[in-house]
Amino acid sequence: MDINTIRNQFPVLDQQVYGKPLVYLDNAATTQKPLCVIEREREYYLHENCNIHRGVHYLSQKATEAYEHARQTVADFIHAKESREVVFTRGTTESLNLLATSFEHHIINEGDKVLVTAIEHHSNLVPWQQMIQRHHGKLLVVPMDDNGVLDLDCYEELLKESPKIVSIAHISNVLGTVNPVKEMIGMAHQSGIPVVIDGAQSIAHHAIDVQDLDCDFFVFSGHKMYAPMGIGGLYGKTEWLKKLPPYQFGGEMVDTVSFEKTTFNVLPFKFEAGTPNVGAALGLETAVQFLQSLDRGEVERYEAQLLLSAIQKLSEIEGIRFIGEAEQRSGLVSFIIDGIHPYDLGTIIDKMGVAVRTGHHCAEPVMTRFGIPGTVRASFALYNTMEEVDIFVNAVKRAAMMLR
Ligand code: PMP
Repeated sequence: MDINTIRNQFPVLDQQVYGKPLVYLDNAATTQKPLCVIEREREYYLHENCNIHRGVHYLSQKATEAYEHARQTVADFIHAKESREVVFTRGTTESLNLLATSFEHHIINEGDKVLVTAIEHHSNLVPWQQMIQRHHGKLLVVPMDDNGVLDLDCYEELLKESPKIVSIAHISNVLGTVNPVKEMIGMAHQSGIPVVIDGAQSIAHHAIDVQDLDCDFFVFSGHKMYAPMGIGGLYGKTEWLKKLPPYQFGGEMVDTVSFEKTTFNVLPFKFEAGTPNVGAALGLETAVQFLQSLDRGEVERYEAQLLLSAIQKLSEIEGIRFIGEAEQRSGLVSFIIDGIHPYDLGTIIDKMGVAVRTGHHCAEPVMTRFGIPGTVRASFALYNTMEEVDIFVNAVKRAAMMLR
């Protein structure tokens, strides 16, 4: 893996902020996009732009073919059995809202339960919470220990309360914990309970095989895996997607319409009402191809080295407290330093050119669990370098000295 060749594909990284070279470590929020992805979207608007599925003319057919090709590429990437198991959405949040709404209309009855965990992003918490509250039901929450590891004994107990669905993050966006999702899916399936995996933080870092995981649903965002914003996906097993009712209504998702009755389109179109973001879907396909062009095992090892180095070097800082110290961690490190507000730290290192995220990271219950207002989070991508890790750690050290 030649890091310079890779970095050359991300011109945005090659800039100065406040007169310092940019060190971009906010990849869990969104990754930068390689030239090939930007070019693909541009190419679509330059030469191919057209509404899809509806036209008999050349451009419409070409755009339709390209869009469906992108679906197949994504399906292959996550090892789905069939391309119709992949629904294009705006991203993880929309995919989860789709599922919560469809479950509400088909599966959920008064007083039912939904199971999530204590580490969830608001996107994998609030849609379920709001939905279940409308039915006077209950949200069951798997607790975690001080290292940010889920309590699987408790999970087993909570499954006995027969939730209608389990929805869990593959990797925590605050703690970096990699949850044992395969095991958790197996446990839920023993009781016939379907499982949703929130893959927002895993898909860019690890090869995903939905058949091997045996998850019923897998949701993700393109913009966190080098693709454009406004595109993402919902994978669902065919048997589930067939069973669930549509989420939104309008053009494209219908079969026949009269004033009395509407019948719905086949999969996956039943879940894709209205004109989709075709250009972004093609960009997502190119992002997938970009990842496939690399040795993913090598990328995984490289990113693990970046993370390990950051953790080791940060550990030297007096008063540092890591938030999330699970053995299985990936992609990011979160921390606070005694007596220093994360926001102040983040603001000062920003002036040194280092972009990290501070705050609650859309996971307020995690902050409450650890009794903190927020953390500083550095998150890595395949274009980051060891030198950047050093610049980041030195910036944190200097900022801590200034703020003490
Ligand atoms: N789940 C997790 C674990 C996330 O990290 C994020 C984004 N931070 C989301 C869901 C929501 O993703 P999006 O905003 O792209 O819909």
